[in-house]
Formats: sequence, C-alpha cells, structure tokens
Amino acid sequence: MNRVGVVVPETIASLGLQKKYYAQCAILFWRTIVGEEIASHSRAQRLAGGVLTVTVSNSVWTHHLFLLKQELIGKINAYIGQNVITDIRFLAGNWSKETNEENTEANEPAPLYAKLKAIRLEKTEVMEARKMVEGVADPVLQKKLLTMLYKNTALKKVRKKEGWHECRDCGVLCPPAELYCAACLIEQKKESLSAVRKMLRQAPWQNYSEFNQNLLCSFSDYLTAKQYLMNNLIQDIRIGQANENDEAALAMLITGLSPLELTDDMIKNQIAKFRRKSHVSTSRSR
Ligand SMILES: [Zn+2]
Repeated sequence: MNRVGVVVPETIASLGLQKKYYAQCAILFWRTIVGEEIASHSRAQRLAGGVLTVTVSNSVWTHHLFLLKQELIGKINAYIGQNVITDIRFLAGNWSKETNEENTEANEPAPLYAKLKAIRLEKTEVMEARKMVEGVADPVLQKKLLTMLYKNTALKKVRKKEGWHECRDCGVLCPPAELYCAACLIEQKKESLSAVRKMLRQAPWQNYSEFNQNLLCSFSDYLTAKQYLMNNLIQDIRIGQANENDEAALAMLITGLSPLELTDDMIKNQIAKFRRKSHVSTSRSR
C-alpha cells in the first residue's frame, strides 16, 4: 500500500479545516487503504471525535473486521500520516452498495443544515474557493474539498448574521456572548489555573479572600488549584519525594495556618496521616 502521508493544502490549514480534511481522506480512500476484498463488504461512513463509523454487509464480516480493528486503525493512520482514528465502530446491516462517499451534512443538526442551504454564496466567494483547490490532483478529493470550503463560507455567513464575531485572540468566529473562541478560552483557563497554582504554592495558608488580594481568580479556580497542590504534595509524601518545605506547604494548605502560627509538631501531625498509610509495615521510630 502506498503511503500518502496526506498533505493538507495550505489554504485548508489556514482555515483550520485540517481535521475535516483528514476525515474526508480517511473516508474517501477507504478502498485504497483496506484493499478490494474488505472494501467490497464495508464502507466508511463518517469520522467524528476520532471514531470512524463503518457499515458492513453482514454480521460475519462485522466479526471478521472487528478482529482486524487495530490493524485497520494502524493502516488508516499510516496512510494519512496522522493519528486521526482512535477507534472504529462497525455497523452490520445498514449496508448499501454505494461507493464510499462521505456525508458530513447528515451530521449537522437539522436547523443549521436548513440555514446553510438557504445561504447564497457570492460569485467572488465561489471563485475564491475554486482557486484554493486548483492544486489538488485527485478530482474526487478536489470536489469534496470544494464542498467543504463552500460550506465553511456559508457557515461563516450564517454565524455573522447571528451576531457572531471574531475571537479577540485568533480571529475564529465565536458566539455573541463570548469575547474569545472555545479553543482560546481553554488555553486561557489553563494559563490562569497555572498562575493560581504558582501563587498559592508561594502562600499556601491563604484563604480565598486573602488570596484574591494577590491574584484575582474565581473561587472555583482557587479550590481547583488548592486541591491540585494538595494531591501532588500528598503523592510526593507517600512516595518519599517530599522535602521539609513540601511538608510545611501541605500542612498550611490543610490548616490555613501561616508559617508564623505553624509549629513543627503541627506539621508532623498533619503529615503523619498521609505517611502512615504507605508505611504501615515499617517501624515507626520517629
Ligand atoms: Zn480564539
């Protein structure tokens, strides 16, 4: 089997459509990837969340393909050159002899599909999309890509009509109520949580209102960070990786006592609770 290591056209990548592109390829090249015999009994239908749905002619073949699943996943990913597939779902029965054609539209929620259909693209938009796929050699793939681009343009128009606007960070369209897109929000959340953790590690005794004077954050972020730090410190203590500072930090997180209030005995008492669990069999000569 020749390995394509599918190259995403730059224009597609710039629109953030790589995933859809890979999905199209996995479905479109099913026959090439799995070979004539398997392809004559099965048909790749759609790819969502890394799971490829394949319809199969009958239950005997479903069982046969199920046994080959890991091998097929490996073949597809090797062909695409990316780990796009994590699982395959085989459906016996819903079988038709159509060629392997993707139908992503079927995945769209009905109201959105209707809105998309109602959108008319400008001539310039159509030309622009055509230009983007000019360099794609495979005519079937080219047609698929064109449809994908049309749909993407239509989707943008629908979103704009509904008041969507560009994300302040990356320019992707996002809902009226959000300043940033979902991906950027997740990124920001990660960054802010990591800042909260760092700051709390410096002052582990602080309660939420004290802490908030150093660094503004939500109560739930404060709690999440605190829990995270505690879990990590407890883990370190159990495996014998914690130093005195770590032990004191955990004691402060638990008691809320500052370094001035906390005595060595108090720390020992707190830490002993966690230490005992993994050191039951050893002597307690402390
Ligand atoms: Zn964004």
